[in-house]
Amino acid sequence: MRIRSKVLALLLLLALVPGLAVADSAIMEELGSKAAKKAMQDLKMEKGDADLLILTNAGHAIVDGQTTQAALKGLSAESGNSIGDANLFQVLRPHWKPVWFYFFDKATGEAVFLQADSQALSGSQDDLGALPEEKLFSKISNANVDIDYLRNNTDEGNATFDGKAFNGNEFSLAGISNVWARGGAFDFIQATCFHDHLCPGVTSGLFLAKYVEEKLPINNISAESYKVIACPNWCKDDLLQMRWDATPGKSSMFVMALTDAEKKAVPGIAGIYIRWNDTVKEGDALALGYNFSAVELPQWTGPAWGSKLYQDIVLMPYVDTPEAFITVLKEFKVDAAKLAQMQNAGMHPLKVAGVM
Ligand SMILES: [Zn+2]
Repeated sequence: MRIRSKVLALLLLLALVPGLAVADSAIMEELGSKAAKKAMQDLKMEKGDADLLILTNAGHAIVDGQTTQAALKGLSAESGNSIGDANLFQVLRPHWKPVWFYFFDKATGEAVFLQADSQALSGSQDDLGALPEEKLFSKISNANVDIDYLRNNTDEGNATFDGKAFNGNEFSLAGISNVWARGGAFDFIQATCFHDHLCPGVTSGLFLAKYVEEKLPINNISAESYKVIACPNWCKDDLLQMRWDATPGKSSMFVMALTDAEKKAVPGIAGIYIRWNDTVKEGDALALGYNFSAVELPQWTGPAWGSKLYQDIVLMPYVDTPEAFITVLKEFKVDAAKLAQMQNAGMHPLKVAGVM
């Protein structure tokens, strides 16, 4: 009997534990569903509307120990949007930030931002289902973020950006939306979501990547890969990690800053890019320079919040002519010893490469 009751207790426990997990994910799913329902109502959009973009940190955020990926299910079910349709993206944020949802209508430029109230998520699914939107979300705000609209309505832009209408996510969300609306490629949008925002710096990463891929193409996919000496580092390096799987953890990227004096000594230096062959332990390297003002781009004359947003757009036509911004400072061969020298903390990679 004692054994039987122990077995019974164990079975009961096993039945309960997954049950709890299901209940929690159902709450997140309901949250995503309610966010989509409310936003689509405000934007007057129907399920399956190709003009709708959804951005969220769901899946990255953790609320009271509970992961939030199930919210994506609710978002998709309600809106029809998905990663596969390139109209639902997860924007990287640290797990302790509150979970938020953002909806953008390409046709009008109108956007709705909703941030979940963590307190409201501690109840049951029924509790949550019964909560009015203003209790479930600590912030619900609307704004037009289309850059062409904002150019003519700077007062609205001032209110959105200076007033933190999206709880500090304004630049991040508006930048991604504007480029998505103008046909930004899926892989580029995905990389900017990893970077947190879309800026001229991450765009320079795309241009540098395309340039390197043209000059030093990967011909042997089983032996060759790119290694990046990210010296100096800037936003570009997050795109390179995504595009090339060139992560520091796998020794494909080494990140080092430069002092102002060092930057002056090698103007425009944008790092060293190596096509490494791991079979023969040899590589071809390019030390590249990047000049942000090499091309005369149309200028934004409005308030400061619009400057980088506008640059994001006017840079788009240059995606196939990255050489306009890039110069080769040095081209050289790399063997295992030289590679090790450029990667080591005690060495200066630009001096090892002979460009400083
Ligand atoms: Zn950036």
